Amino acid sequence: MAYYIKLLKKEVVARDTMAFYWEKPEGFEFIAGQNGDFALIEPPETDEKGDLRTFSFVGAPFEENLVTATRMRNSAFKHVLKNLPIGTEVKMAAPHDDFKLHKTATTPAVFLIGGIGITPIRSIIADATHNHLPHKITLIYSNRTPSDAAFTDDLQEYAKTNQNFTFVPVFTDKTVEGRNGERGHIDSEMVKKYVTDIETPIYYLSGPPEMVKSMRNLLIEIGANEDNIRSEEFDGY
Ligand SMILES: Cc1cc2nc3c(=O)[nH]c(=O)nc-3n(C[C@H](O)[C@H](O)[C@H](O)COP(=O)(O)OP(=O)(O)OC[C@H]3O[C@@H](n4cnc5c(N)ncnc54)[C@H](O)[C@@H]3O)c2cc1C
Repeated sequence: MAYYIKLLKKEVVARDTMAFYWEKPEGFEFIAGQNGDFALIEPPETDEKGDLRTFSFVGAPFEENLVTATRMRNSAFKHVLKNLPIGTEVKMAAPHDDFKLHKTATTPAVFLIGGIGITPIRSIIADATHNHLPHKITLIYSNRTPSDAAFTDDLQEYAKTNQNFTFVPVFTDKTVEGRNGERGHIDSEMVKKYVTDIETPIYYLSGPPEMVKSMRNLLIEIGANEDNIRSEEFDGY
């Protein structure tokens, strides 16, 4: 289904990372974790990569606006998006894909996420918290520094209100101070510290293909069942 929706607000949510708030079309329904294709209409500038990008919904279905977020890069699409006047319409085709939390609540969920891959995960965890879902959820969320990490305030809030949710921020820059979370790259020791029974959970990976690939390899190496790994690759990074 295609919709014409207006930009309501934009904000910086991390280094080189912006969130875009869109009006939610009447009757539009989606499942936390899904995404949409956003097409610019007659943009002032374009390049060979075209005027359409897929973005996951950052907001959960119960939240008022549709929100997307992206790392700002040099493509014509992102340049136009960054400077898009409030009130401009884009064409959105949505919802797409089936990247959503599993139904069996006794099976834990573990998310191994880097950088911008957090977008569908924030939606899934906001939704699980709002709906008091009983799933045990662990999020290991890696960024270089705290300034690169989007939505950490929300995630910390969910960790306070949702007893079933464990949030582990990871900073690859080992000089980052403070006692919370972990330092260094996500490795097998780090995963085993937070996931005691490796074979049981359903694992979720999302983000740039390289990150997804390396997390999948790591999980298989430490004994996760490949059938229990679900992933969403953000082509284009
Ligand atoms: C399911 C899904 C969910 C996603 N969710 C998000 C999200 O929440 N946030 C986010 O930031 N990104 C997301 N992405 C990725 C997003 O769609 C963009 O690809 C990404 O943001 C990079 O865009 P860019 O303009 O910076 O990069 P670019 O490299 O400039 O553009 C990437 C796009 O151009 C195409 N392309 C590259 N080179 C060429 C060429 N020479 N000719 C023609 N086409 C070319 C690629 O296939 C890709 O579609 C998602 C992708 C998928 C598939």
